[in-house]
Amino acid sequence: MLAIAAIAGLAHLVFIGLMLWAGVTLLAWVNVGSVALYAWTFWLVKRHRPDPALFFMGVEILGHALLAAFVIGWDTGFHYYMVLTIPVLMLSTMWTLRVKTLLAVMIGALLIAADVYLRGRAPVVAVPQALEAFLYYFNLVATLAILGFLAFFYQRLVLMAEHQLRLQACTDPLTQLRNRRFAMEVAQHEAAVFERGGRPLALLLCDIDHFKRINDQHGHDAGDAVLRAVAQALREGVREIDHVARWGGEEFLVLLPGTEVAEAEQVADRLREAVQRLEAGPRAGALAVTMTFGVSVLRPGEGVEQALARADQALYRGKEAGRNRVILASAA
Ligand code: GH3
Ligand code: MG
Ligand code: MG
Repeated sequence: MLAIAAIAGLAHLVFIGLMLWAGVTLLAWVNVGSVALYAWTFWLVKRHRPDPALFFMGVEILGHALLAAFVIGWDTGFHYYMVLTIPVLMLSTMWTLRVKTLLAVMIGALLIAADVYLRGRAPVVAVPQALEAFLYYFNLVATLAILGFLAFFYQRLVLMAEHQLRLQACTDPLTQLRNRRFAMEVAQHEAAVFERGGRPLALLLCDIDHFKRINDQHGHDAGDAVLRAVAQALREGVREIDHVARWGGEEFLVLLPGTEVAEAEQVADRLREAVQRLEAGPRAGALAVTMTFGVSVLRPGEGVEQALARADQALYRGKEAGRNRVILASAA
């Protein structure tokens, strides 16, 4: 929007010169007003007030286009700019969609009425033929360029919104890790790759030990802070190609593509130590945090659910055996 205000201001500066040269003093003065208005809207946008800026730009475009068409004739093509106010109006958040639709229809009606009234009418001031032709094509090209720019801008807005939604749909809001749905999709994909003779997949199912106590003794907010710290430690402890997801509550799933059981056990133990070290960290304060890991590696012919179930059983055995440890899943 800053660019629009700046370009519009500069264009009107050029028009001042053109109008003075053509001897249309009135329009030269109008253009001085327009330059001042665009400078002001530039300032408004800078102060994060785009709505009034859009409003005054719209009013300027409509008023200026009508006045120019009236004074130097319809054939100078200034009315084209009126069309641009409709997509710009739609960007405004000042009005409801119903009001905006009504205003858009009114702008259309105004343009048609002006066409009926002004087309073929002798202008108040006749500009030289060459200048009229220049203005006509200049205005047409400028209108098309601005329309193109608007289309590009709307497309960018849509793509950004879509990207944001996609990201939200697979992100856990508390820890910013991937969520269960995303982890399951990745695991299914990796399982399919493995099934076709590709790389193996290791699954680490891990659960914070006695997390309920942390909540009970230090409050839910402290519990949340621990979850975020653990999430970060897990994320930082694995490779870029690995996936760390919040599986639920205080349970996480780490997917290690291309990893066999011995290496998976090493990774799990490294993560376990990293989480244990968090107790010395400033965020966790006096909170001692440990985690238990169940490790399984996808077996030929086995589904993701079965491998997960084996990891879960291993995790359960780890809890039984006293927690803060890594347990390998049994083959069955
Ligand atoms: P264990 O060592 O056997 O895993 O014991 P635990 O206390 O960690 O396990 P339990 O399943 O009994 O308790 C899990 C707790 O995690 C209970 C629940 O309130 C808490 N929890 C789940 N999600 C959140 C969350 O988003 N934030 C916080 N602060 N607590 C959560
Ligand atoms: Mg737990
Ligand atoms: Mg649990």
